[in-house]
Amino acid sequence: MFNFDYYNPTRIIFGSHRIKDLDAQIPANARVLVTYGGGSAKKHGTMDEVIQALGSRKYIEFGGIEPNPHYDTLMKAVEIVKTEQIDYLIAVGGGSVIDGTKFIAAAVYFEGDAWQAWIGSTPIKKALPVGCVLTLPATGSEMNGTSVISNTALNAKLSNKNPLLFPQFAILDPRKSYTLPPHQTANGVVDAFIHVVEQYLTYPVYGKVQDRYAEGLMLTLIEEGPKALVEPENYDVRAAIMWSATQALNGLIGVGVPQDWSSHRMGYYFTIYHGLDHAQTLAIILPAVLEIQKESKRLKLLQYAERVWGLTDGSEEQRINHAISLTRTFFEDMGIPTYLRAYGIPESSIDEAIIYLEKFNLLPLGEHKDIGVIEVRKILSLSY
Ligand code: NAP
Ligand code: FE
Repeated sequence: MFNFDYYNPTRIIFGSHRIKDLDAQIPANARVLVTYGGGSAKKHGTMDEVIQALGSRKYIEFGGIEPNPHYDTLMKAVEIVKTEQIDYLIAVGGGSVIDGTKFIAAAVYFEGDAWQAWIGSTPIKKALPVGCVLTLPATGSEMNGTSVISNTALNAKLSNKNPLLFPQFAILDPRKSYTLPPHQTANGVVDAFIHVVEQYLTYPVYGKVQDRYAEGLMLTLIEEGPKALVEPENYDVRAAIMWSATQALNGLIGVGVPQDWSSHRMGYYFTIYHGLDHAQTLAIILPAVLEIQKESKRLKLLQYAERVWGLTDGSEEQRINHAISLTRTFFEDMGIPTYLRAYGIPESSIDEAIIYLEKFNLLPLGEHKDIGVIEVRKILSLSY
């Protein structure tokens, strides 16, 4: 295991009817911006619950944060925060609203060009406090310091990570996920599963505790994910998925072990240029990454085959192939097609994706930095 520091400052407030408890988390004199997305939080009453919990505090609502939140939209919120002297942000929604709100929290203090600051020319030194009410278990954004923002004018989708971006608190009420359309439930389960895979299916450094923990999360998502599609209002199922998704990316399982975020990095192009959902891109790319990395991840894939899929019979090659194919079947059973061509995307997109990765200096990828242009081409061709 590598050396590591682990610190997670986000308070989790978990359970049924917990939104009222946000009152105790925010200063009584806070001036609050409550952010939300395209309207689901309004439609399903979550915004009302939040506003009621705010009591007599001054608040302004800011809606319209898109899936894969747009820089231009968020900059409008930054202006409101400045002119209205907002000092606390509450995000009500899924990963997009939470990521977008983290960006707003930091961008308020940026000097000069905010996009340039965001993509790394100046490190984030200060950010407003953010709290969140999660409505879509998927990204783990509610308990991590990462934010992914899209700049449509530049055709760029890029992430930032900073300890100042951790939410102060996150309210996780599993009931809030009952209203998810089936494909968003599926997206959430698959995104969370692949977050675990990208921290677990790496080699050769083992974290024995992290491995068992990761395997528990994957088994839970494999068992509970399909149930949520047939019983959307089963509280225990939704609770298991919500808590798994948070832990999949709150940093705990990734400490002390190598990480391989190649599926995420390769996926961004397909969201930005072809409008694919984040989780769809991952379900398409991950099986091919595992296929191409069979040798370098061999022992870990065997462990995955045995402990997650219960595969003990057959040759090593057969067990690995079977585990990869069961992974794909799991995504397909959740209703997410796992080949690019199923989305009507032209094969020429493979070259464009490579140009994108090169343009934003995202290569090489993988825990061994051994996924360069040649390997990306192989992976995306297999994904096609
Ligand atoms: P999302 O983009 O936040 O939301 C997807 C859709 O689900 C929206 O249309 C939203 O509608 C709807 N929705 C949310 N909650 C709902 C509910 N309870 N009932 C009905 N509809 C609901 O999805 P996401 O998967 O959580 O976030 C994806 C983004 O997170 C991507 O940009 C991805 O790159 C990023 N990401 C971040 C991290 C991280 O660590 N920060 C990790 C992985 C991915 P409304 O807009 O109307 O609310
Ligand atoms: Fe993700």
